[in-house]
Amino acid sequence: MVFCVQVVDSRIDGSVTMGNRGMEELIPLVNKLQDAFSTIGQSYNLDLPQIAVVGGQSAGKSSVLENFVGRDFLPRGSGIVTRRPLVLQLVSASTEYAEFLHCRGKLFLDFQEVRQEIEAETTRLTGPNKGLSPVPINLRVYSPHVLNLTLVDLPGITKVPVGDQPADIEYQVRDMIMQFICRENCLVLAVTPANTDLANSDALKLAKDVDPQGQRTIGVITKLDLMDEGTDARHILENRLLPLRRGYIGLVNRSQKDIDGKKGIEAALAAERRFFLTHPAYRHMADRMGTPHLQKVLNQQLTNHIRDSLPAFRSRLQGQLLALDKEVEDYKHFKAHDPERKTKALLLLIQKFSADFEKHIEGSGHLVDTEELSGGARINRIFHERFPFELVKMEFDERELRREISYAIRNIHGIRTGLFTPDQAFEAIVKKQIVKLKGPCVKCVDMVIQELIATVRQCTAMVHIPVLSVCLSLCVSVRPYRQVVEICLVQFAK
Ligand code: GDP
Ligand code: MG
Repeated sequence: MVFCVQVVDSRIDGSVTMGNRGMEELIPLVNKLQDAFSTIGQSYNLDLPQIAVVGGQSAGKSSVLENFVGRDFLPRGSGIVTRRPLVLQLVSASTEYAEFLHCRGKLFLDFQEVRQEIEAETTRLTGPNKGLSPVPINLRVYSPHVLNLTLVDLPGITKVPVGDQPADIEYQVRDMIMQFICRENCLVLAVTPANTDLANSDALKLAKDVDPQGQRTIGVITKLDLMDEGTDARHILENRLLPLRRGYIGLVNRSQKDIDGKKGIEAALAAERRFFLTHPAYRHMADRMGTPHLQKVLNQQLTNHIRDSLPAFRSRLQGQLLALDKEVEDYKHFKAHDPERKTKALLLLIQKFSADFEKHIEGSGHLVDTEELSGGARINRIFHERFPFELVKMEFDERELRREISYAIRNIHGIRTGLFTPDQAFEAIVKKQIVKLKGPCVKCVDMVIQELIATVRQCTAMVHIPVLSVCLSLCVSVRPYRQVVEICLVQFAK
């Protein structure tokens, strides 16, 4: 970590007085940072400048990315195909190949294999049941046809779960997109098909939530070829309908028929150019439309954006570097038996343990388990499913109860015949019933304790040995809760 920050830091120093050449290297520089942060984990992520691609399902996001690369390499299909963010780094180079961060050094020359690897890597974390994971896949494509550019492909916004997708899929997707686009340093490429109502565009709505002034949103209108005859998107593309500071760019990608008929991307780009040059509504702005123009604009805007955010970014990195240097300095004077250090280490471990434990109980969007319930979710299930089930299962004889009520009332009245039902009868009966709840309550408390212990074990496994004893003693201190519940019930019944 220290090493990577230092390397990067000297590069940034060197690029303060940048010429054109320096500018070209800005995006590769951020790519390096992105890789470094991906390798060491999300927590160090410094809000890097990037472009996130958002849009509804089948809006044409994958088509846009494939056109940039000039290759078919993204998984296709119905439903949610993109289930992990794909950080796609395009690097201008003389030869063409692809490389994944998770298997560095293995060069992919065949883009069919790239597609298979994306699918395999997606399934590796999410399982086969169409779950989502926020952990990105990093793919770098070197090619003579691309301009330096880094884009994050995100799952398509969806409304209705299909197949065995979880019921809250809409919120899961939205959450994941938000994690990226809510950062100030993220440009939003909002992809909207022209054959739907722009005012209802999912992508533009989401973008507006995080960027109400339209400062960092770039509009992309796809499927211009599919608009109803007699209608066109001229007023949108001229940035008059819903103005964005960075404007809109119109595209025509390959249709499904083109893809099935194996129409190459080169031919598709030529057809797109022809479309804009010959269309009466777009002819006058043909030079500002189409995939190559979008690629150029994104390259420029991302470069400028990085340049603008560099000073703040640099000072944040330097802050981290200083802190790390201090830590390194501390280690130089490391004495194994220094009590101060021991206490500090113990406190850090306990803090980490406590944070992990809280995450397990309160839930978190990080590294979501799609295989089974655990921690807080299990406890929730015990309370809301298991406990009611136990109550329903309780044997209950109404005739017996009526007999008991009648005897209680008559015993209280003694020789007299009462007019009203006495309170004491009610109390005596209810107390007897409450005691019956003890069994199911204690059973559920036991289950919750088991779950808490399992959670503590899981957290201690991550934190290493010394804390183990502390945690196990914590576990032991969970036991008395059972006694507390028992006492409460007894008191309640009194
Ligand atoms: P994604 O779900 O947003 O990634 O969308 P895709 O890129 O997979 O596109 C969905 C479908 O729309 C595919 O069948 C594409 O061929 C088709 N499509 C995308 N863009 C266009 C376009 O500009 N014109 C036409 N006719 N079809 C398009
Ligand atoms: Mg797609």
